[in-house]
Amino acid sequence: MSWEDNVRKVVPYTPGEQPKLDDIIKLNTNENPYPPAPAVQEILDSFDISLMRKYPDPNAQILVDALAKTYGVKSSQVFVGVGSDDVISMAFMTFFNGSKPILFPDVTYSFYDVWADVYRIPYRLIPLTDDFRIEPKDYAQENGGIIFPNPNAPTGVLESLGTIEEIISANPDSIVIVDEAYIDFGGMSALPLLDKYENLLIVQTFSKSRSMAGMRIGFAIGSGKLIRYMNDVKFSVNSYTMNQLTLLCGAKTLEDDAYFCNTTSKIIATREDAKTKLAELGFTFPDSYSNFIFAKHQTADAAMIFDQLKKCRIFVRYWNKPRISQYLRITVGTPQEMDRLYTALTEILAEEETA
Ligand code: PMP
Repeated sequence: MSWEDNVRKVVPYTPGEQPKLDDIIKLNTNENPYPPAPAVQEILDSFDISLMRKYPDPNAQILVDALAKTYGVKSSQVFVGVGSDDVISMAFMTFFNGSKPILFPDVTYSFYDVWADVYRIPYRLIPLTDDFRIEPKDYAQENGGIIFPNPNAPTGVLESLGTIEEIISANPDSIVIVDEAYIDFGGMSALPLLDKYENLLIVQTFSKSRSMAGMRIGFAIGSGKLIRYMNDVKFSVNSYTMNQLTLLCGAKTLEDDAYFCNTTSKIIATREDAKTKLAELGFTFPDSYSNFIFAKHQTADAAMIFDQLKKCRIFVRYWNKPRISQYLRITVGTPQEMDRLYTALTEILAEEETA
C-alpha cells in the first residue's frame, strides 16, 4: 500500500493550444475575434482597487440579476460560475449521482467524459447518425441524466427545439442539460421550454458570443429548484467562485445588446462566406450554426493540413479520434484572418497535388 493508491487518478481534458507566439492566426479555441463591448473598459477605468481587499459577493447578485433581466427569468433561476466549464462541472456533481449511466453523444464536447470519470459517474455514448445528428429515440432508454451541446461541438450541427423537447419529454425522471455555448450564432435556445420542464438545465457562456473567454463567465438557467440544488453544492465547495471585477464586467457587457448583435452578426456573415470558400477549396462539412466549421477535405489528409497550417502560423483544432480524424475544426475569425487561411490552404492543397 502506498500513498499513490489513494490518489484520484484521471486523464485530464486537453484544452486547445494557447501559443505564445506573435503574428499567429488563432482559429483553434472558438474565441471571438472581436473585443468585448466597449462599456467594459469603463468598469476597468473606474475600478477601485480597495474592493480587492474584501471578499466578493458570494451570491454574485449583480451578475445574476443582470442575466435574469436579459433572459426574462427570475434571479432564483440563474446560476453563475467560472466559465461554463465550472457550471457544467457543478451540474455533473449536483445532478448525476445515480447508478445508471448518463448519456451523451459519441462525438461531442470532449470534457463530458472527463467530468464523468473524475466524479466516478457511469456514462454511455450514444452514436450520432452518419450525418452527425442526434436521434432523439436513442435517448429514450434508462439513464442517470443526459447532456449534449446544441449546436453540437465540434460538429456545429444545430438540432431543432422539437428534437430537444422530444428528448426532455421522454425523460421526466432525469435532468437534461442542454449546453448552449454556441447558441447565439444562429440557433434557437431551449429557454422557452423552461416553463414546461422542471428537469431542464440550460448552460451558456460569455466566452464565445460575448468575447470574454479570458474573464471566465458561464451561467445556467433552470427551474428555481434546480438552481437551489446547484447553489447548495457550490456553497459546499467554494463560496467565492466569481471575483469582484469579473462580476462587474459581466453585468456591464449585458447592457450593450446592440454591440452583441453586431459582433455575432459579423461572425455569422463571415461563417457563411467561409462555407462558400471552403467548399470551393474541396472541403465538405456539416452545416454549421456555431462560430466554427468542422471541415473534411475530399482528398487531403486532415493531420497533414493541420501541420502545414501550423507552419504558416495558423492554428486550427484537430483530434485523432474515431469518426473525426479526417476533420479540422476551424474557428471563424475576422474576414482578414479567414483570407489568410484560404490563401494558406490554397498553397498547401496545390503542393499536395503536385507531390
Ligand atoms: N461547452 C462547449 C460545447 C464548449 O465548446 C466549451 C468551450 N470549450 C465550453 C462548454 C466551455 O466554455 P467556457 O468554460 O469558456 O464557458
